[in-house]
Amino acid sequence: MKVTLIGAGPGDAELMTIKGLNRLKQADVVLYDRLVGEDIVSMIPDTVEKICVGKHNGKHPVPQEEIGSLMVSKAKQGLHVVRLKGGDAFVFGRGGEELEILCENKIPFEVIPGVSSSIAAGVYAGIPLTHRDYSSSLHIITGHAKKNGQLDIDFKSLAGLNGTIIILMGIASLENICTGFLEAGMNRHMPAAIVENATLKTQRKFIGTLETLFELSKQNQIVSPSVVIIGAVCALSDKLGT
Ligand code: SAH
Repeated sequence: MKVTLIGAGPGDAELMTIKGLNRLKQADVVLYDRLVGEDIVSMIPDTVEKICVGKHNGKHPVPQEEIGSLMVSKAKQGLHVVRLKGGDAFVFGRGGEELEILCENKIPFEVIPGVSSSIAAGVYAGIPLTHRDYSSSLHIITGHAKKNGQLDIDFKSLAGLNGTIIILMGIASLENICTGFLEAGMNRHMPAAIVENATLKTQRKFIGTLETLFELSKQNQIVSPSVVIIGAVCALSDKLGT
């Protein structure tokens, strides 16, 4: 009886850790999310039961509470359950919530970190997230709006830090996010980037400024999953990117 929570990385199968892959091969059952790369899912041995709990083929995702009960019931059957998540499970991955359920049910667990898309997107786009000449901090935030449509972003504080701002789940609210930073006094020429499908063969990257970013996303019909990066370091992408 055990659950291993594994970060599968952002999509490129070679970014999965060796430790994560080893545990995956020892699993009895794997519960995986939509953002786990297809190449990684195909590495799960045929003998292992695979359960997709994310949105696939237009079906609704399995509700979070059901994922919790599924993990608990499978583990209580004496199975080794692997919970496989995109990126890193502790970066906007609800990994903490899932572990709390396991604690309540006295189920032993192990957590294996993954390469978060928040980091990998910049790396694959030739954007060093910190640079002694441009940025000495990075801030990973969510662009997911609350039920009332409000964003939970402290634009003023972030704009004053001169760091690199990395936004996950930011495409649907991109216009409001850019306006928020402009109204908070950030330079409209501040370099900015969007990396769609980061690390996958389908990766696209777009470099603009805080002022042009939303237009750029509309013109190119950028969709989720995408990472938005705002900060002076984005200007290095043309030089350092491939
Ligand atoms: N735990 C994940 C993040 C989950 S939140 C991690 O550490 O990467 C989901 C958001 O992650 C998406 O909306 C998108 O902003 C980002 N994301 C995940 N995979 C991505 C990818 N391959 N390319 C671009 N963005 C990605």
